[in-house]
Amino acid sequence: MDDRLGAVYDELVRRNPGETEFHQAAHEVLSSLGPVLDRNPQYVDAEVIRRLCEPERQIIFRVPWVDDAGVVQINRGFRVEFNSALGPFKGGLRFHPSVYLGIVKFLGFEQTFKNSLTGLPIGGGKGGSDFDPKGRSDGEIMRFCQSFMTELYRHIGEYTDVPAGDIGVGGREIGFLFGQYKRITNRYESGVLTGKGVTWGGSLVRPEATGYGVVFFVDELLRSRGESLDGRKVVVSGSGNVATYAIEKVHQLGGTVLACSDSGGYVVDDAGIDLELLKDVKEARRARISEYADARPEARYVAGGSIWDVPCDVALPCATQNEIGEREARAIVSNGCAVVAEGANMPCTPDAVRVLVDAKVTFAPGKAANAGGVATSALEMQQNASRDSWSFEHAEQRLEEIMRGIHDRCLETADEYGSPGDYVLGANVAGFTRVADAMLALGVI
Ligand code: NDP
Repeated sequence: MDDRLGAVYDELVRRNPGETEFHQAAHEVLSSLGPVLDRNPQYVDAEVIRRLCEPERQIIFRVPWVDDAGVVQINRGFRVEFNSALGPFKGGLRFHPSVYLGIVKFLGFEQTFKNSLTGLPIGGGKGGSDFDPKGRSDGEIMRFCQSFMTELYRHIGEYTDVPAGDIGVGGREIGFLFGQYKRITNRYESGVLTGKGVTWGGSLVRPEATGYGVVFFVDELLRSRGESLDGRKVVVSGSGNVATYAIEKVHQLGGTVLACSDSGGYVVDDAGIDLELLKDVKEARRARISEYADARPEARYVAGGSIWDVPCDVALPCATQNEIGEREARAIVSNGCAVVAEGANMPCTPDAVRVLVDAKVTFAPGKAANAGGVATSALEMQQNASRDSWSFEHAEQRLEEIMRGIHDRCLETADEYGSPGDYVLGANVAGFTRVADAMLALGVI
């Protein structure tokens, strides 16, 4: 890393001790920016990078609630409002026991560049709680969401900060959160949250958007080389929102998804994952992926283990951060995989990325490949602002255009900076430049 950026990085590590995921995300972006500073001394003079590394606002709060047994439970809530140079803070809420400030900051930092890459008017933020929704009743989830929003409502708004879902936060939770916001504020402010149900202000295609978007990105990447997804073998990790719709779009475009997973293990189905069955197990019944194999004799379940041992042409990690380390990356390479595209946020460790890139596996980073979710959230905000609702076809077409546009912007930027085909550099530089120019224009704030 260039000395000027190394100094900023060292300061970030010192000022944010123990926040390893945040350090990792910042290191990855700053490592790409040396050539940008050489060409743009105005960013150095205005300390744009140091300002970008410091969130505009960080909120930490107590979330007390009562479980079904009448026992008082206490969780911690977070909202990190990272950067609003391009528009209101925008980014999801994650409910998972691993959540702490370092994870929320890493996600908010990434989100700033991702949102910039979409070309839409949205800043970056992220939030969540260390609440574990697994095994909780609908009543417990509702009471938790109501308590969470009882604090969060004072910090958000359609022109201020617009949260959405992420791990552990889907349509059910967004409903409870929106209901409590409406009750406290006495305002039907549709644009305050995205990922809403279609009958109460949501956008068609939002549930599908991140997964579909990843696959549109990969399709464009293959097209740029005269190839396609048709007949390709694909492995998708996870079986949540992103994974499910990535699988659906791969199948629509002629590929076959051979395996998917949850935190307990993975299933391999050589005939291709049966999406209806997967949705029944994971969405309708909220059960474990092992039940997929129970219901389908031709599939096999592997408890624990690594899904990345399953050979494929295209790998789509869609579960969580750092799920592909050096060992998994080596398995992916030795199985002859040609493309890895991140559906999750930062699922590949820096060591894994190095292994993939050294082996000439094309690597598409999450901030570009999984931007379809937030892009469609911005389209949901547009529909809310104009009190309109678009058809599925129209919303999907806009998503597809945005994803193909992000792909092209990454490739063009990589070319412009003398690293053809380097999607990491392309995404970091293109995402950074748009935010940095807006920050310069707005003055030192
Ligand atoms: P979901 O909660 O719907 O699904 C998460 C999936 O990942 C589940 O199958 C879960 O298994 C698995 N998983 C979670 N944590 C772990 C872990 N520690 N080890 C192994 N598996 C794990 O979340 P999403 O699909 O919404 O999000 C997945 C990823 O995509 C996240 O990185 C998120 O930040 C990113 N993302 C999501 C967007 C969206 O629109 N939803 C937008 C852009 C990025 P289990 O059920 O066993 O926990």
